[in-house]
Amino acid sequence: MRIDKLLANMGYGTRKEVKTMLKGGSVRVNGNVEKNGKTHVDPENDQITLLGEVIEYREYIYLMMNKPGDLVSATEDANDMTVVDILQPEDQVFKPFPVGRLDKDTEGLLLITNDGKLSHQLTSPKKDVGKTYFARIDGKVEEEDIARFSEGVELDDGYVTRPASLTILSSDTISEIELTITEGKFHQVKRMFESVDKKVTYLKRIKMGELELDSSLELGEYRELQDEELKYLF
Ligand code: URA
Repeated sequence: MRIDKLLANMGYGTRKEVKTMLKGGSVRVNGNVEKNGKTHVDPENDQITLLGEVIEYREYIYLMMNKPGDLVSATEDANDMTVVDILQPEDQVFKPFPVGRLDKDTEGLLLITNDGKLSHQLTSPKKDVGKTYFARIDGKVEEEDIARFSEGVELDDGYVTRPASLTILSSDTISEIELTITEGKFHQVKRMFESVDKKVTYLKRIKMGELELDSSLELGEYRELQDEELKYLF
């Protein structure tokens, strides 16, 4: 990879700014000053320093956020703040995007990455990745709903959902449940409960595949995925 591209990708400036930096002699490759932006480097094996600081190059970033209920899961939005807006600038340089969408008022586990292949794998209905939600429901959720959800329910547009696994945590005039679905239709959980005449009043994603939301993350906080968590995803 060209050294000017590598430095620009890492957020050290525009190509033009990087060129000036190189000309000024502040970049070294394996200890030798490198002034030519066209020079190719091997990010895995060459040691690149900028003003004496080693640059750790990597292509991908994988973040786990506890999404709060007032951010849009998109990279930009005309009216609202997005989950990407609240990332630190050093994370934004990777041009990350959310994996799939949570409704604005839904909280919980959101992956943010710039790895398009992984994003596709996790969101493709063909891959069968389970997404587990905790929800509070206005209405008494009953055994009968477990059976209906496991068979598939018909949504308002006629679509019949895939088998989903419903666990009742508490059941009264207000109920608490966990639901695992393997697809991601628009407002799917809310619409599934509507189909059985109940209303979701609070929704939080707690799991994607084997990856669980880190309970120490406050709403709006995020962190990088750890290596063992990444293994769950690949
Ligand atoms: N289902 C919903 O209804 N909303 C979400 O945000 C996610 C799943």
